[in-house]
Amino acid sequence: MPTFDFDPFAQMRRQTHGAPPPPLEQAAFDAAHNAVIAHLPQGLDAVLDAVVATWARADGIFDTVRTTPAYALGAPPAACRRGCGWCCHQKVGAAAIEVLAISRALAERPTERRMLEAWQVGQPCAFLKDGACSIYDIRPLKCRSLWHVDVRHCMAKYAGLPVGGAKTDPSFRSEPKMIYEGALKGLALPLIKQGRDCPGLELMPALRAVIDKEDAAQMWWTGHSPFPAETVLDWFPKPSKKRRR
Ligand code: SF4
Ligand code: SF4
Repeated sequence: MPTFDFDPFAQMRRQTHGAPPPPLEQAAFDAAHNAVIAHLPQGLDAVLDAVVATWARADGIFDTVRTTPAYALGAPPAACRRGCGWCCHQKVGAAAIEVLAISRALAERPTERRMLEAWQVGQPCAFLKDGACSIYDIRPLKCRSLWHVDVRHCMAKYAGLPVGGAKTDPSFRSEPKMIYEGALKGLALPLIKQGRDCPGLELMPALRAVIDKEDAAQMWWTGHSPFPAETVLDWFPKPSKKRRR
């Protein structure tokens, strides 16, 4: 058994002085965690299926929440809309297992695959077309979680302009953030606990590193990361090799 003890809610508990995670985050975490646990014994493809199911399940939770009066009245509405993609001009993150699931799906999507192949460092996300996401149904959880209330804040961040003071409103809707980040932790935790490396990755270079490598997912499954070290973002602790089973 792995001795790795990763508590995905530890940081939140520190911030809330021991209070349990919010119900929305816990619900999304449980759904993702249970999906991965159920699929793990069936192998890699089944785990990638669990990622796709998790995207849909987390969307379902958010769809339910956003129809409620509490959501409509709870905070200013988000400014997000089709055609607004300032957030897609910034560094985009995804869990390693999501990158592998997106890569698998792109095998059936030649247009989007070509968009990825044409991408170069310094450009916005390859899948941004006319301000909209070309892989909307398979975009990472981090992309789903971002719902800012003031588009000027996103523009200013992109442009490297000051975002403090009264210039722009940095608020975002907390509900999608809780739901999708709960799902992200729920995806990663069972993999990390099993000794599999599931860091956060920078989406574009990580995808580019595996898209032409037919055995990339299998490499990852057998403990040999196909992702270059420079694509790794510091989201989750790294399990030690000796704990792998
Ligand atoms: S997060 Fe900001 S940039 Fe992205 S869609 Fe929403 S308002 Fe636009
Ligand atoms: S995957 Fe889609 S939503 Fe995410 S950054 Fe790229 S274009 Fe934007």
